[in-house]
Amino acid sequence: MMEDTMPAFSRKSSITAVAALVILLGSAVVTADKRPNILYIMSDDHAIRAVSAYGNSLVETPNIDRIAANGVRFDRAYVGNAICGPSRATTLTGLLSHGNGFYSNEWSGEFDGQQQTFPALLQAAGYQTAVIGKWHLYSDPVGFDHWEVIHNGFEHGTYYNPEFRSPAGIEQTTGYVSDLITEKSIAWLDTARNTDRPFLLMYHHKSPHRDWMPGPEELESWDEDARVEEPSSLLRDLDGLTRGRREARVSISGYMTDQDVKLSMAKYLQPEQAKLWEAAFARGNAEFRAAELSADDEIRWKYQRYIKTYLATIQGMDRQIGRVLDYLETNGLIENTLIVYTSDQGFFLGENGWFDKRWMDEVSSRVPLVMQWPGHIPAGTSTSGLVQNIDYAPTLLEAAGVELKEPMHGVSLLPLIGPEPVEWERDLYYHFYENPGFHGVARHYGVRTDRYKLVYYYRNDEWELFDRVEDPADQVNLYGQPGSEGITRDLKSRLADLREQYQVPEEDPSAPWYHGTAVRILEWWFN
Ligand code: CA
Repeated sequence: MMEDTMPAFSRKSSITAVAALVILLGSAVVTADKRPNILYIMSDDHAIRAVSAYGNSLVETPNIDRIAANGVRFDRAYVGNAICGPSRATTLTGLLSHGNGFYSNEWSGEFDGQQQTFPALLQAAGYQTAVIGKWHLYSDPVGFDHWEVIHNGFEHGTYYNPEFRSPAGIEQTTGYVSDLITEKSIAWLDTARNTDRPFLLMYHHKSPHRDWMPGPEELESWDEDARVEEPSSLLRDLDGLTRGRREARVSISGYMTDQDVKLSMAKYLQPEQAKLWEAAFARGNAEFRAAELSADDEIRWKYQRYIKTYLATIQGMDRQIGRVLDYLETNGLIENTLIVYTSDQGFFLGENGWFDKRWMDEVSSRVPLVMQWPGHIPAGTSTSGLVQNIDYAPTLLEAAGVELKEPMHGVSLLPLIGPEPVEWERDLYYHFYENPGFHGVARHYGVRTDRYKLVYYYRNDEWELFDRVEDPADQVNLYGQPGSEGITRDLKSRLADLREQYQVPEEDPSAPWYHGTAVRILEWWFN
């Protein structure tokens, strides 16, 4: 019996030993290989109403929807300062504006890239890193092995023939911006990528930022007579609202330029591109000029031009995002890549008769956010946890297994979106500083809780209180209304707690003394 048993036992031992060896060897290889690639896709001013993954019908975004279907959709994701550069600085640092020093597009100077950023931490941990497309922080990107960022127009780039800035200098391109950013991104993945190392690619689109210039395909298929549904508050009378709202310069009626609504052609078009523009818009423009519309009908007309071109830039961008997803699939990279799609903030799509961002309102500070990571994030899920762009850096670092050197304001979202989501309860802090600045939106800060939002326009000493459940479009200010006293007291206390928690300075940063006047002159000139 022993004779029989012993060999069997020995065989088993050998198998165990071999298995242990395989696991041991395997883990050495796996440690290097297992860390996920990260594709961080960010667009510019993409409102949640214009993403079909959120159940909206304004436009189809099949490729953004692909990411949502393969992973998680965040239903309550917000930014802490709804304007381009500051939002991007927060993404990089995991810090609110007062933590990273980049408060304003207009007067914060260059972003300080020497501070802790998640790309630099990933690079130091062995990731190969790149940022391609919109940067809008004026500085040279730090922590990237490769960078090519759109340059002209104060780093907005132009939709057609944009300039790119890189360590090699300024490149004048020909073509459409979404296509060019994508081609450069795929070229980097295809030719420059070190296949022994995981990568971080920040693939940053310009679309759908103002001046909403559709690409060639969308110009060719332009349907002047198609009509998009109007928001119910398009012609809203703003009398009786806070001074901050009445005095802002964000109305479609007053502050959209002829170029915005395609009554005049952008100077950056080449002759062939200009022909496409003419073919799309000339007839509608002639009809508009002949019609002598009433003031309200003119707003309606401009809204249609605005929303249709805005959506057209999204369609062109979504198609390009599909090319990058296809590339990852075709090259066997999709299984081990964490993919994020988001926008630097939302946008008013005619609500209140407005365009633009900046406000703590749902439409402007809430963002689309979807993530996929096979094996780690269950497919086809959604979460209503309150999350903010301070959380992106900690999330991506945790996914990569990289430790922070300095604390961040945000927290990793992986526990919220893994197979067994944890309880999630928190309030969010918001702070907008860019005043004086274009569009004249008053400085404000506030708190967002599970149900309510309290906003303080501190230089006007005005408050607003909104109830997300009863009034998801922020139309009814409950502040000072009978019955709201208890809620207000609670929210003010929560707001004070957040300011304490994040150590928000009492003193605000100032713009240069001449900035407000310069902005008003430029706004007059452009309008
Ligand atoms: Ca933006």
